[in-house]
Amino acid sequence: MTTVALKDVTKVFKDGTPAVDRVNLDVNDGEFMVLLGPSGCGKSTVLRMVAGLETPTSGAVLLGGELANDLPPRERGAAMVFQDFALYPHMTVGDNIAFPLRLAGVEPDRRAERVADVAGALGISDVLARRPGQLSGGQRQRVAMGRAIVRRPGLFLMDEPLSNLDSGLRAELRAEISGLTRELGVTTIYVTHDQAEALTMADRVAIMRKGVLQDVGTPTQVYGRP
Ligand code: ADP
Ligand code: ADP
Repeated sequence: MTTVALKDVTKVFKDGTPAVDRVNLDVNDGEFMVLLGPSGCGKSTVLRMVAGLETPTSGAVLLGGELANDLPPRERGAAMVFQDFALYPHMTVGDNIAFPLRLAGVEPDRRAERVADVAGALGISDVLARRPGQLSGGQRQRVAMGRAIVRRPGLFLMDEPLSNLDSGLRAELRAEISGLTRELGVTTIYVTHDQAEALTMADRVAIMRKGVLQDVGTPTQVYGRP
């Protein structure tokens, strides 16, 4: 649904911390790209620049071929999912998922329909009346994904969305996330330090170390055959 291109993107934070160093990366329409590397190597900063939450110090971020450096987050057609879920604790699950539709002025009947669809797809139809505090970690992550996809974004950005879950649930949700994004055909950038996630989920993997993009390719190209 959209393409992402990073052209020589560099980020040095105000305090002088160099986070990202001349990164070049193309993400194709509908592709599932995993950004993999150890903590602190600059993955989140790349994702945040794509999301519009940080501005590059130099270089260009292109979305659908258009320069996006100064586009505010709302105008990027991107939805982001974080590791801490960032759900609204005082709202029900249904209201959490419906929230982006409400902001976009979608009318109540249509909202309810879309929430029901998304909840069905994610297997959380029976908890719509609960509040986030009354859910398991896996359910909370499904709600966060539901809220992100309900507006049918062209670009899906995920920052370590599974890292607070136990390993059984991680494996289960990995498969669900891959299935869902492919079904929707949405272009996805998925940040993780977990190589197993990269290998099972990615169309292509981009490996980062110390702010530099080291390698990009399919899991087979990058890791060879077992
Ligand atoms: P990763 O996502 O790979 O863990 P980050 O992109 O979060 O890495 O961080 C890359 C580097 O930039 C780290 O050294 C981190 O401490 C630093 N950093 C991240 N955000 C800021 C910020 N707002 N101000 C200063 N330094 C930051
Ligand atoms: P990650 O889980 O991606 O490694 P961190 O835990 O390093 O992220 O950082 C969490 C938040 O703190 C991020 O929003 C990041 O931008 C910010 N941050 C990270 N390092 C610094 C820093 N040195 N100075 C200021 N903010 C930072």
